[in-house]
Amino acid sequence: LTVSAHAPALAGNQPAYKDARRPVSVRVADLMKRMTLDDKLGQMMQAERLGVKSPADVTTGRLGSLLSGGSSQPTPNTPATWADMYDGFQKAALATPLGIPLIYGVDAVHGHNGVYGATVFPHNIGLGASRDPKLVEKIGRATAEEVSGTGIDWDFAPCLCVARNDRWGRTYESFGEVPQLATEMTSIITGLQGRSLGGPASVLATAKHYVGDGGTTGGVNEGNTQLSEQELRAIHLPPFKEAVKRGVGSVMVSYSSWNDVKLHANKYLVTDVLKKELGFDGIVVSDYNGVDKIDGQTGFTPDEVEASINAGIDMVMVPYDWQKFIDTLRTLVQDGRVPMSRIDDANRRILTKKFQLGLFEHPLTDRRYLGTIGSQEHRNLARQAVRESQVLLKNEHNVLPLDKSRNKIFVAGKNADDLGNQAGGWTVGWQGTSGPVIPGTTIRQGIEKTVKPSSTVTFSKDGSGIDKSYDVAVAVVGETPYAETKGDRPGDMGLDATDLATLQKLHDSGVPTVVVLVSGRPLDITKQLPDWAGLIESWLPGSEGQGVADVLFGDYNPTGKLPVTWMRSADQQPINVGDGKPALFPFGYGLRYHQRFPW
Ligand code: BGC
Repeated sequence: LTVSAHAPALAGNQPAYKDARRPVSVRVADLMKRMTLDDKLGQMMQAERLGVKSPADVTTGRLGSLLSGGSSQPTPNTPATWADMYDGFQKAALATPLGIPLIYGVDAVHGHNGVYGATVFPHNIGLGASRDPKLVEKIGRATAEEVSGTGIDWDFAPCLCVARNDRWGRTYESFGEVPQLATEMTSIITGLQGRSLGGPASVLATAKHYVGDGGTTGGVNEGNTQLSEQELRAIHLPPFKEAVKRGVGSVMVSYSSWNDVKLHANKYLVTDVLKKELGFDGIVVSDYNGVDKIDGQTGFTPDEVEASINAGIDMVMVPYDWQKFIDTLRTLVQDGRVPMSRIDDANRRILTKKFQLGLFEHPLTDRRYLGTIGSQEHRNLARQAVRESQVLLKNEHNVLPLDKSRNKIFVAGKNADDLGNQAGGWTVGWQGTSGPVIPGTTIRQGIEKTVKPSSTVTFSKDGSGIDKSYDVAVAVVGETPYAETKGDRPGDMGLDATDLATLQKLHDSGVPTVVVLVSGRPLDITKQLPDWAGLIESWLPGSEGQGVADVLFGDYNPTGKLPVTWMRSADQQPINVGDGKPALFPFGYGLRYHQRFPW
């Protein structure tokens, strides 16, 4: 038999796993028969892309997955650079003996927010205010297109946390304080994944963080959720149930504990409840270094690795020490501390999703979607989302809507002309930052574009220069970007000194003032509120500040409703629906403009 005679026979006899006509289960079983233990351990690793020295590491480690964590953007941070980077790593994965493609994840939590030039949508808290699951599904679709344009296959979104204490630094990642909101907004999963995995621009979604992340005592990030099982199931589990029903491809485990037991080591909640009772058949992924944190010490031990894998974690966001993790897990398997059946179960889940996504057939970036990144169509959708997320909380003497043509308007405040502040955390960098970090329209620019030439707009960031000649002042104040633990506010929850000084100047001038709060959560404003003629909670609107101006001038009659109860004072936290504490504004509150507009 000559080599050339043999070759066509081989081509016709390709392994079943490479044959797209075969059912996924057959392909998975065929592939797994061919895999060594190291192939299987590699599949379970998700390395930070900064944790591999070169794409060759992906080949030698047989890594199943990479992620770009919140601050892991390539240089230059352009969509094409992302796509090239992805393809480079993917080719390295295809160079392994079995050619298993990798799956690459990012936190596209309000649009494809890591990429400069992407459309940045309002954070979840604002989407919760919109009460519009159809809009949220469309945002998922738009996000999936932008993510696909950079090659990425996996999105660590949506966060389905039910934020029960506004002190928590991740409150803005929540759709609201009641389980019904996050449950309805699981529509975003359908948007992200498409009707079925593997369709056009289909991205694997992640329901996170399982479970109870928003219920920790004191609103402490990564803290302890002290609740009865009945309460946990009633408040925090329902959105995950719905996500599973919608076919969510992955679930991320929470850093937090439930009654002192870390979720990362909680076999009952991860395996018995999520996998068995809810019937979740996708990938359970750990959080970033989540396994290390089980015992509260840095670095992972064999005990932690054993506990997490046996609890039911399928893929480990390692993110740096993947070689050590592989070695540790190999020893545990060889010693019988982690059963081979667990490794196989994890691989079956991971490979099934890879086949369903079509990664074996289309491993490289579909660059047709590059042009959707920051497209006008997506920006229009984001603007609509901003409009629908604004909540009108006060409107004395109908100071709003503002008059486009007969007004002398004074605009002030540190958040009036700052895209970074408008976008918040998780925007080109984990923590986000103030300043022109993304392209877009600031609220000030939105106001300037809206007024007719017969009106004037004067901007002064700190409020100086205001006098009695102005008809109205718009003060855009609130929070500056933060993410996760850095956003926890165990003490004061009021406006900062800068904002108070700005507001004082406006107050002293006697000009009626409308306050626009750009913040990830309700702030303690009870003392200042009587000074303000109008108040809009804008949340973290993202790149399209025009949507805020649309509401200020009545081009959109506000429909947003509070997704959280607004405290009277910080010491009321946690304050939630039905707990009887007197709120400043109740859950669901939101005014509309009732007058007819002159234009
Ligand atoms: C966060 C997750 C995120 C992960 C990857 C963690 O710090 O808790 O929500 O998906 O980082 O960036």
